[in-house]
Amino acid sequence: MLSSDGGSLVTKASEGHAGTVSRDVCPLCGSTARTRFRAIERGGSTYQLEQCSNCGFVYTSTARFDTADHGDLSKLYWRFRSRHHQIRRLIHLHLKPGSQIVEIGCGRGELGYIMKDDPYGYTGYEPASGLSRFGQQHGVNVVHDFFRPETATPADAVVIDNVLEHVLDPQQLLADAVKTLNGGGLAIVIVPNRDDLRQMVPSWRDARHWIPPDHINYFSMSDVKRMFAHCGLQATPFGFRALTLRDYRYFARAALETARISLLGHNVYAVKPEPQGAMQAR
Ligand SMILES: [Zn+2]
Repeated sequence: MLSSDGGSLVTKASEGHAGTVSRDVCPLCGSTARTRFRAIERGGSTYQLEQCSNCGFVYTSTARFDTADHGDLSKLYWRFRSRHHQIRRLIHLHLKPGSQIVEIGCGRGELGYIMKDDPYGYTGYEPASGLSRFGQQHGVNVVHDFFRPETATPADAVVIDNVLEHVLDPQQLLADAVKTLNGGGLAIVIVPNRDDLRQMVPSWRDARHWIPPDHINYFSMSDVKRMFAHCGLQATPFGFRALTLRDYRYFARAALETARISLLGHNVYAVKPEPQGAMQAR
């Protein structure tokens, strides 16, 4: 149902109106064919979710121009999560000292902070002013800007942690990131899972999952794999690779991921192949 004042984003879908942009094609495959997936009432507005008839991707029919959460610096605090430690372990497993880590949409820079004594370079890009200032004030190398592939320096790992669900063109952002990766480098992506088991709990679902206009893209595992394949990469769930024996609490999840069953968020990575002929050239 639309809000009674006619002020929902659904009724203001025309381009440029009220700070919103209309999304008329599937952001993953470009198809215009779609069916209504569901309507979400949130914050006094109604948002329409569409499902692509060609590839099955679920996305909102409108989005805000500025999806960055600018946040009040004085109210910010660190939010270290197990995934930050998993990403760090993956990097330690795969990359030599001196490797360059780039994080796109790094928020406060938790990953950079926990890696500050590690033998790697870290650069985070964060367009939200409060978040980027917070990281900078704690000594993390955060650039207050969008990631721009044309000016980015080559990276040995690109990390996109809970970002692709917010952006207008997730496929393009991943492709841009992969372009800046050196051969043998890691592309690490974490996105919420459209089929997350925790959706069975209504309070979790309403607070964390179907939350337009903050989240505008809703990924299944096959969507994630197709995005990686489009960049010439094979997406692999973290599984046990990012765990040590101290992480026994995550073993059940890792076992399921190894069996290609993703009950929680999608935590995946891929190794970029060395360019043809690179091995002989060395
Ligand atoms: Zn599609």
